[in-house]
Amino acid sequence: PTFEDLKLNRQLLNAIAEAGYQEPTEIQQKAIPLILAGHDLLGIAQTGTGKTAAYTLPLLMKLKYAQGSTPRALILAPTRELCLQIKENVQVLAKYTDLRVVAVFGGKGIKPQLEEVKQGVDILIATPGRFMDIYFTNELATKEIRTLVLDEADRMMDMGFMPQIRKILEIIPAKKRQNLLFSATMPEKVIKLSEEFLEFPMRVEI
Ligand code: AMP
Repeated sequence: PTFEDLKLNRQLLNAIAEAGYQEPTEIQQKAIPLILAGHDLLGIAQTGTGKTAAYTLPLLMKLKYAQGSTPRALILAPTRELCLQIKENVQVLAKYTDLRVVAVFGGKGIKPQLEEVKQGVDILIATPGRFMDIYFTNELATKEIRTLVLDEADRMMDMGFMPQIRKILEIIPAKKRQNLLFSATMPEKVIKLSEEFLEFPMRVEI
């Protein structure tokens, strides 16, 4: 199958071609149709498999390439490095959209990140701790967030982020929310998280 077969819009196909992706990876072939159909998804895949694009491409389709008034998607990831890597990947694929992508993470002052958030965000990428810091400033509207991605869920559990993730699940509206969980491994803690967080998930393992 090709990216055309995955029913992606022309702007996305152009960005994919410019990124040099010739054909969808296995996780992309399996996950993109399920996410486009609106399912919750449990994706078991390592880094390097193309999992970021697997959730980003359907997310960009869902956001219709246009800016909203407040954030509509939240991607949680364990580390600053991964947040920055995801941001770069999303920006490459979102090249022909007007969507604004912001990453926030700890180990750096909150002020510049908060300023960026205040300028307007469509897709927010965050470590769980820094998300909560930003949330507590009351400068972040969460009511329009309709897609929540947990990337490298096993690492987030290992790093002790479960309490923050539980809190975030309470903050973000549950109604009409699509939930996507990616993990390289499925230890007990991640199974438990997926049971709490995903609704009738489709499972993709590569
Ligand atoms: P990830 O597993 O999301 O960290 O992706 C690993 C790397 O593969 C990233 O640098 C992506 O830009 C790249 N990539 C993602 N999808 C494809 C594809 N279909 N063809 C070639 N490279 C890809």
